[in-house]
Amino acid sequence: MRVTRRTLLATAAASVAAGLVPRRLVAEMALGDGTLTTVSDGHLVLPGDFLFAPMPQDALMPLLAELDVSRDTLEPPCNVTLWRDAEATVLFDCGAGGEFMPSAGRLLENLDAVGVAPEDVTHIVFTHAHPDHIWGLLDDFGDPAFPDAQLLMGATEHAYWTDPATVDTIGEARAAFAVGAARRLEMVADRVALFNDGDEVLPGIAAVASFGHTPGHMAFSLARGGTGAMVVGDAIGNGHVAFARPGWLSGADQDPEAAAETRQALLSQLADSGTPLVGFHLPGGGIGRAVPADGGYRFEVAS
Ligand SMILES: [Zn+2]
Repeated sequence: MRVTRRTLLATAAASVAAGLVPRRLVAEMALGDGTLTTVSDGHLVLPGDFLFAPMPQDALMPLLAELDVSRDTLEPPCNVTLWRDAEATVLFDCGAGGEFMPSAGRLLENLDAVGVAPEDVTHIVFTHAHPDHIWGLLDDFGDPAFPDAQLLMGATEHAYWTDPATVDTIGEARAAFAVGAARRLEMVADRVALFNDGDEVLPGIAAVASFGHTPGHMAFSLARGGTGAMVVGDAIGNGHVAFARPGWLSGADQDPEAAAETRQALLSQLADSGTPLVGFHLPGGGIGRAVPADGGYRFEVAS
């Protein structure tokens, strides 16, 4: 495995004007005849309660101190995975676009920095349809941002977000998520193809059901030339507590019990096999490995 990482010089006027610290870490890994790259979409700014509220607070506080993580505010990075080989230029998710949070929605300018134009993208494979993963389907003018891409989504996930009842059942805090996903999926309906658990969605890329974070969340197992990696999306949603205490229920997950089971199973499998993983909200560009530590795991950034 060859891994290179570099920080691109940040010159975006928009980032400077907004007073944001540009984060343009790019991680890269060769896999058989192709290359896996993560491209930053910026980061999110979330109240700590969003993640930590359901966790056992007495045990959480010393753990956060040990991991040097704030209880009050989280700023998770957003890493969009890009797969390139001779035939295809594939994105896994497409970022938040301009309507979600001022600190996110940087994907197009950061793709440009690695030499990828929107019309170069042949496929977008979705892990799930939360705003930071799918709202980037539309550009700042409300037009499709990746006009030539075929869109691939798990059938269960697609059915959930296109169900008119979801906006009423998802809960007030996430109602805007439902409206935003439904609007976008309707606009691109003629370009969407559906798949199920175990399907080979593209050559060497197989869907792995990892439900819980959302009702139809999918991870993807990549196998090329005798090597492999797994794109885990938000099934392992942060680089700290999700690894250290994967069984704890997380407020970030729509079905916390199912998500905790999924997370434990994935981490056990990834740590046992040593397979590199790519996580949407993991640090250092998001490529690394799960390593057993103190009864749980820790995320070791690839270097
Ligand atoms: Zn996310």
